[in-house]
Amino acid sequence: MIELKSPAEIARMHVTGQFIAEVLDELSARAAVGVNLLDLEHHARHMISERGAESCYWDYSPSFGRGPFRNVICLSVNDAVLHGLPKSYVLRDGDLLTMDIAVGIDGWVADSALSIIVGTPREEDLHLIRATEVALEAAIEAAQPGNRLGDISASIGEVAAEFGYSCNLEFGGHGLGRTMHEAPHVPNNGRRKHGMRLKPGLTIAIEPWLAATTDQIIFDEDGWTLRSADGSRTAHSEHTVAITEDGPLVLTRRPSEKAVTSTVANSDALR
Ligand code: MG
Ligand code: MG
Repeated sequence: MIELKSPAEIARMHVTGQFIAEVLDELSARAAVGVNLLDLEHHARHMISERGAESCYWDYSPSFGRGPFRNVICLSVNDAVLHGLPKSYVLRDGDLLTMDIAVGIDGWVADSALSIIVGTPREEDLHLIRATEVALEAAIEAAQPGNRLGDISASIGEVAAEFGYSCNLEFGGHGLGRTMHEAPHVPNNGRRKHGMRLKPGLTIAIEPWLAATTDQIIFDEDGWTLRSADGSRTAHSEHTVAITEDGPLVLTRRPSEKAVTSTVANSDALR
């Protein structure tokens, strides 16, 4: 069942979303060559506890994980893309780091992720990250009341293809609100004008992720971390979005975020 949220409930999710945005900005500033991933995990824990927020990951026990998860953030490096289990690892120059976090404040949840380069970037990594960011913005633009879920999914798949990547459909976006994962599933590719109609009050996490040269993933031996099957690098961009009467409202927009073009045509200038 899909629960549509009232404007007041969306406002409460926005409070959570803005906190997450702040955490991700702060962790991005701290992630540098020589920093241990566990320092980022511990700083996130500190911020969550200071704010009186609740981690959605702590004790998370999905069917696929070797649960329960005992961390508050997913940290995925290079070929790791989803559910990266924080471990003692010192970041190196050129590492591609994805940070994904979901918390609740007063019972209302938001979820967001981004990928960054630590130290000196490689051109191909910037291209990969940019593809997920442009796909995310295109999908947000498609999240208009009256459109269909397939319009969001197709927007992601089209941008990925334009950048030269193919999407995996096993893991994608999702509804959220009172809990981290609710209906509907939001696949990272699909057909325009298909799927459920988007109504004001629908709140979803949209999260394109890509691997450079494969759409297949494998589990790490830690039982949580998902890696690209061929070892190629990966990237992931996620925002929590509310569909409102006035259009899409991004609840997790980071203060630092620069405007990213939403159209593939204009994205040429960004490559
Ligand atoms: Mg997430
Ligand atoms: Mg998510």
